[in-house]
Order: sequence, then C-alpha cells, then structure tokens
Amino acid sequence: MTDVAEHLLLHLETAARMYGGDLLLPVTPRPASAPPTRAKATAAPAPVRPAVAPSPPPVAARAKAPPAAPARPAPAPVAAAAGDSTPAGVPAGGSLAELRTEVLACRRCKLCEGRKTVVFGEGNPTPPVLFVGEAPGAVEDRTGRPFVGPAGQLLDRILENAMGLRREDVFIANINKCRPPGNRDPEPDEVAACRGFLERQIDLVRPRVICALGRIAAQTLLGVDTPIGRLRGQWTTVRGVPTMITYHPAALLRNPALKRPTWDDLQLVQGRLREPAV
Ligand code: URA
Repeated sequence: MTDVAEHLLLHLETAARMYGGDLLLPVTPRPASAPPTRAKATAAPAPVRPAVAPSPPPVAARAKAPPAAPARPAPAPVAAAAGDSTPAGVPAGGSLAELRTEVLACRRCKLCEGRKTVVFGEGNPTPPVLFVGEAPGAVEDRTGRPFVGPAGQLLDRILENAMGLRREDVFIANINKCRPPGNRDPEPDEVAACRGFLERQIDLVRPRVICALGRIAAQTLLGVDTPIGRLRGQWTTVRGVPTMITYHPAALLRNPALKRPTWDDLQLVQGRLREPAV
C-alpha cells in the first residue's frame, strides 16, 4: 500500500471509530517486545515515531467525525499565563537525570510521608508534547510511573486515536510527584512545594506544546482559578511554550460527553505541531 493510501486508511479508521461513538476504543495491541518507557526519562533514545504528528485526516474522513457540540460562547481569553512566573528557559542547571535523582529524594512536603514511590514522569526527552496531569493515583504510586492506571490507559488510547502518537513519543508528568492520600486534590502548600520541579522539567525537555490535563494542572500552570470549562480549548503560554488546556482523562471516564471537546482540543494541538518549528 502506498504511504498516501495507508494514511487515508488510518484516518478513515480513526474517524469511523469516533463516528461509531467511541473515540477511546482499544488501539492495536503493541508487541510484547515493545520497550518499557520508564527508562526513557533518563536516557535519550531517538523517538520511535517522528516528533511531529501525522498530517490531518482527509476531508472525507473528517466529515465523518461526530456532530460538533453546540457552539459555546467565545471564551474570554486566558490572561497571559500568570503561571509564567519565572522566565522561560532560565537554565535550572543539570540534566533531566539529575533532576530525577533530586525529585526522588524530595521531602519538601507532607506527601512524602504516605508515598510508596515518587512519580517523576517519563517519555521522550525531546517531545513534541508534554502532557501534564495532576498527581499520581494508586497504581502510579505503586509503580512509579505516570498515567498507568485507568485514566492512563485511556490517555494512551486518546493519544493513539486522536493524535497518532504513542506514550513513548511524548513526555508525561504531573504537577505533584507524590500521591495525595485517597486521591484528594493536592493542597496549595503541596502544589507550591512541587511546582518548581515541573518548571525545570519544562525547561529541560522544551516541548513544542504543553497540554494540561484537567483543572488542577490548568489552574496551577496558569495561576488562575477559572473553571476548566472556560479554560479548555484555548492557547496560552507557559514558560514560553504554547499550552493547550483540555479535560483530564479521568473526567472523560466519568462523563463521556467530554470526549468530543477533548478531541477538538487535541486537533488544535495537532494543528500547532504541523506548523513549522520556530
Ligand atoms: N491522574 C493524574 O493526574 N496523573 C497520573 O499520573 C495518574 C492519574
């Protein structure tokens, strides 16, 4: 099959999945020999796939996407990120591996007392997209890896189906590196203690785009308390990096109606990745 035909088929399949009502169907299982991704946070392997996501689905395929959600009022622009509290790219010093060592030993806040592991983050160290979640859940706390529980499995499917990417193509991190007890929201002192680590991760991996998943990530990165429904789908800038806000995969598990706007937000990310890198 030619590249073009293969590409067309891929996107027809993707659109058909969406139209069939599930953006989140399982993706083709990866061979068991696929390399584990954990080591990638410290190593610097070449990305398995091109750093830039594939070109858009053909018009015919796009026409099959689910009906657009009713138009919502144009959101007020997000104020220039208050989260951009420190200048972009200020050399934090050190490497990702050194930062990881520092984070793994962290005792800056009370979350260190109940944690089993510290979840530093993992993935492609020169990623097209850095996904930022909230904090580890139970499975993440046990394994030391971000987004590997139910929400993480959904994130994997979203990445593949909506963006043609695999988790090892991107970098995945959280605002907080330790699990809050009972999965409660991280408290302000815990966020304050940890956010510097994420800022250094951003400066070290320099993604082309940041995608904040959910309210806590968005509000923390932007330094606002605007509801997620008003923040999502908009571009802002965090530490000099174009940043898109969308819903957290766990919210999609609870409310499937959020799949469509999430898809739309990720298409905006795709569009940005197709622009020539500056
Ligand atoms: N939810 C998050 O926000 N992060 C994880 O790593 C897992 C679940």
